[in-house]
Amino acid sequence: MSEVFDAVPNEIFLGGIWKRGTGATTSVIDPSDGTVLQTVDNAVTHDVDEAVLRGTAAMSDPQWRNMLPHNRARYLHRIADAVETNSKRLAVLQSFNTGKSLTETRGLVASAAGTFRYFAAVLETADQDLTTPRGNYLTMSIHEPIGVIGAIAPWNSPVASDAQKIAPALAAGNAVILKPAEWTPLVSLALARLIDESGLPAGLLSVLPGRGSVIGDAIVRHPGVGKVTFTGGTTTGRTLAHIAAEKLMPISLELGGKSPTIVLDDADVDLAVNGVAYGIFSSTGQSCVAGSRLFVDESIHDDFVEKLVAKTRSLRVGPGRASETQVAPMVHHRQRDSVAQYVDLARQEGGTVLCGGCVPQDPALADGAYYLPTIISGLSNDAKACQEEIFGPVLVVLPFRDQEDLVAQANDSVYGLASGIWTGDYKRAWALARLLQAGTVWINTYKQFSISTPFGGVKQSGLGVEKGRAGISAYSRQKSIYWGLDEQPNPWAD
Ligand code: NAP
Repeated sequence: MSEVFDAVPNEIFLGGIWKRGTGATTSVIDPSDGTVLQTVDNAVTHDVDEAVLRGTAAMSDPQWRNMLPHNRARYLHRIADAVETNSKRLAVLQSFNTGKSLTETRGLVASAAGTFRYFAAVLETADQDLTTPRGNYLTMSIHEPIGVIGAIAPWNSPVASDAQKIAPALAAGNAVILKPAEWTPLVSLALARLIDESGLPAGLLSVLPGRGSVIGDAIVRHPGVGKVTFTGGTTTGRTLAHIAAEKLMPISLELGGKSPTIVLDDADVDLAVNGVAYGIFSSTGQSCVAGSRLFVDESIHDDFVEKLVAKTRSLRVGPGRASETQVAPMVHHRQRDSVAQYVDLARQEGGTVLCGGCVPQDPALADGAYYLPTIISGLSNDAKACQEEIFGPVLVVLPFRDQEDLVAQANDSVYGLASGIWTGDYKRAWALARLLQAGTVWINTYKQFSISTPFGGVKQSGLGVEKGRAGISAYSRQKSIYWGLDEQPNPWAD
């Protein structure tokens, strides 16, 4: 395993320079048994000043600024090549640090490489606009980089979420300062090394591990940072939005969710049982789009829930690096304890735990951050367990009478990130999809993602979208140019 960890520098990446962090240290753990994987020396706020200086110089350098799109795209392809060449190591590393199953981390690494390639292609094919004039002049709208982008990432899918921020920001011509989550800096540092070795000009990327309240805060407040892209919890997102408002700085927010999954009475039950279980229990529920509220037509409710409970009990819980594992440990023992508290609260609110609701009894798993996949019924939609994001393997089940009742309950949430519909009737699916307040609706599938398809939340699930062709414009400013063609272009010219 040593080659996996050798790829992780125990240094911070400061705009092309690797140096020892002089901030507080973080003990990064393997959540499958609680052992310390590595002690990371974090950045200090002074490093943010330096990263901004180096980033500003690098993105303003005429060589980068005036580089033709197809040439800049080559840098993104080289990063994708490096990620693909090292995909095995990155996947194992991510599995150690986040606890996730190898099947999942392999997918996340492949998605990261694909993201760099996708934005290389978008960059090469992006058009500038020649707009319609109202006089004898040419009018154009061109896209220019914003400057230095602050990218703040959560712990649940580091390599993929890092790529989703770094790739479009670089493609648009910016410099990026990435702050990984305190629990999961290892993959981001390994990615930084690969990007550095791929030949990206120095200064365009910094990766500064450290506490959100220290390093994250310093990045967001820094006057030299022109935009922040944040993925994380709604409470943190709101705090950052206040700071951005003071600076009049654009900010993109990908936040939390409490997504409804809906099973209509005409659904293919076996397909829906598998889909619902995957939608909530894959990633051990630590997914922003987890389908954590299940609504089942009351006419099939009891039978459906019985089958779902049987399926859930059959899921194999174990370490992420064991090939048979379906439900891996949570990212950290603290996150596991927070989930356990929510389940206790649900019991106090009158809920019935149909399966799970505790840590596994297997002594081999005793030291890990495990929690059994849990289904709770008997709560009303206004219970805390139905309204608050638990971010763990916990599903609440609620019956509904008819479409009106369903839509009222499903939309009764401060969140609006995702939703799922299981039905055999395409017309009902279409009608419901239009009524649900969510950024993404999956019909007869769940948690499938394409980098070409925009992703974002409504209500308190976020502001702005990532991915898709427009993903690059989130990191650009538009500038309008009027190009006069008259000898005497305005009335005072004579
Ligand atoms: P979090 O606590 O909000 O932290 C996210 C990031 O923000 C971390 O890097 C954190 O650093 C940093 N941070 C915390 N306080 C900060 C501050 N005052 N200033 C600047 N940065 C600060 O979220 P999390 O627990 O890591 O992630 C789980 C949440 O992310 C869930 O709510 C989930 O739904 C959401 N999420 C959303 C999406 C989406 O696309 N919508 C995707 C994935 C996850 P530290 O680690 O040091 O605290």
